[in-house]
Amino acid sequence: MGVVDDFEERSLTRRERAVLRAMLRHAAPSDGEAILPHDRGRWVAVIDGLCVVGMCACGTCPSVEFVRESGTVGTRVILEAAVTGAMLMVFIDSDAPSYLELAPLADDVFTEFPPPAAITFAAA
Ligand SMILES: [Zn+2]
Repeated sequence: MGVVDDFEERSLTRRERAVLRAMLRHAAPSDGEAILPHDRGRWVAVIDGLCVVGMCACGTCPSVEFVRESGTVGTRVILEAAVTGAMLMVFIDSDAPSYLELAPLADDVFTEFPPPAAITFAAA
């Protein structure tokens, strides 16, 4: 996951915040491990304290990172869901969201995250 050079830290957009909240509340864990409601609640509670510190440099996705060089320490949880034409994932490292990823399935270009209503969550 290469990131944009010289990225200026910024607040989350309304869309990013909404998608992140929806993902943390409803997305299924990628490894099938059960996620407890209070874990989800704790992750949602830190959203307001997050900043975007980097963006994916690929040019075809709107993926944003909240923590630089995440995944180097602590435990990682990955939640995933789908939108038309793409996979959505949120990485949680050391108990806080670190990366919100949209991975296009084909050659489609996504300039922003689709609205939460467009996200398909796997049945719990
Ligand atoms: Zn990208």
